Amino acid sequence: MLIGLCGGICSSKHAIAEYLIQHQGFQLLELKSRSFPRIADAPEDDRWLQASEFTNSERNQSSQLLFESPESLLNFATKRWQGLWVTTDIWEETTLDRFLQRPFFLLVSVDAPVSLRWKRFTERCRARHLEPPPLEKFVLWNDRHLYDKNIGRAYLTDRAQVRLFDSSSSVEELHAALKALNLADEERLRPNWDQYFMQLASLAAQRSNCMKRRVGCVLVRERRVISTGYNGTPRHLKNCNEGGCPRCNRGEGGGVGLSTCLCLHAEENALLEAGRERIREGAILYCDTCPCLTCTVKIAQVGISEVVYSQGYNMDQESAEILEAAGVRLRQFSPPRNGLIYLESTKKCEQ
Ligand SMILES: [Zn+2]
Ligand SMILES: [Zn+2]
Ligand SMILES: [Zn+2]
Repeated sequence: MLIGLCGGICSSKHAIAEYLIQHQGFQLLELKSRSFPRIADAPEDDRWLQASEFTNSERNQSSQLLFESPESLLNFATKRWQGLWVTTDIWEETTLDRFLQRPFFLLVSVDAPVSLRWKRFTERCRARHLEPPPLEKFVLWNDRHLYDKNIGRAYLTDRAQVRLFDSSSSVEELHAALKALNLADEERLRPNWDQYFMQLASLAAQRSNCMKRRVGCVLVRERRVISTGYNGTPRHLKNCNEGGCPRCNRGEGGGVGLSTCLCLHAEENALLEAGRERIREGAILYCDTCPCLTCTVKIAQVGISEVVYSQGYNMDQESAEILEAAGVRLRQFSPPRNGLIYLESTKKCEQ
């Protein structure tokens, strides 16, 4: 596994790399000459950039792995992909594209409040007997480093698979949050079967035209997709979101007037699409929402063996009882959350 850490100045990427090295057995891969993108007309740029990086003594590394180019770094990691590697030396888009093609690579972005980053930067400048910049200057410098059209690094953070926000107030707090998060979890690189099929169900949900709620469903047997479905009005009828179902367009509460609804549910569509012949013993229904009562009885009747859902609906208990009586297993699976993850102790770090 190779983790690439990217982020703004003093956003904690080095602190996170350090944590991975000291506590999770990672080794740092570095480029010999770091060709940082530079702001041509900013005389402080070089000095500040150096101050924004850790020195070797601060890193107290025993062995260092230095590479001439991003290609040689990547080739090294490719031959040893089962090892644990981390780098903070990805600066440009073509390099990033090449790294992202590899199945063992995970791009992690780190951000932190600008006031906190300025404070960290000020401390680091003082430790090196450099004059720290005033906040305003730091903000302008930082903005250009992230958003300048030619050298800006926002494209890196934009493509990160995991986005961390470090608002922790101490190293201990950061370490505790990182421990709970477990960045080295292999499932971040490659989804397991539950994750894979649930993501397909969520993708199907995006095609929904129902005004009430988007739902997606995938029918699977022996790890093969039999059919997919999403909710909406039947074929040849106007789409729900074009006024096709008067009930859904009245915008009443969940479950109200269900019997007058013209929308087929995602599960119904997936079951109709598959047909009873293809649904045999061992078929699993993945649905991003727990099936309603009317779908539940159909699921029991066609012989589905297991139902896996991610979000609850307003009749989960009733559905669970029917499925249990019918001998259909029911289980909830919530895929790892994407988007922003806060690194601090007060909020629960989701995996
Ligand atoms: Zn509808
Ligand atoms: Zn409807
Ligand atoms: Zn339903």
